[in-house]
Amino acid sequence: MDAEAEIDGLDGLELDPAHRARGHRQLPNFDTPVVAFIYNYKWLGLPGVYYFDAFCQICGDHVDERPGVETDAFANAHNKSCGSLLVD
Ligand SMILES: [Zn+2]
Repeated sequence: MDAEAEIDGLDGLELDPAHRARGHRQLPNFDTPVVAFIYNYKWLGLPGVYYFDAFCQICGDHVDERPGVETDAFANAHNKSCGSLLVD
């Protein structure tokens, strides 16, 4: 598997090779290929309160330390728009 980053300038995002590899599938049902996903989280010190980082492999856009609803919306939007650029 080619795990090289395909977009420059991502050094600050702390992506590991699995995050850089293409071919992820939507969790938890593995139905749909995804290009944008949540890859990191930060516990804010309160029970059940986390912020998340999300990344799009197609356009390189990302969000850092946002509430789950925002990262979900980011991933859904990019999987719809940027994911449509994928050719199976
Ligand atoms: Zn995108």
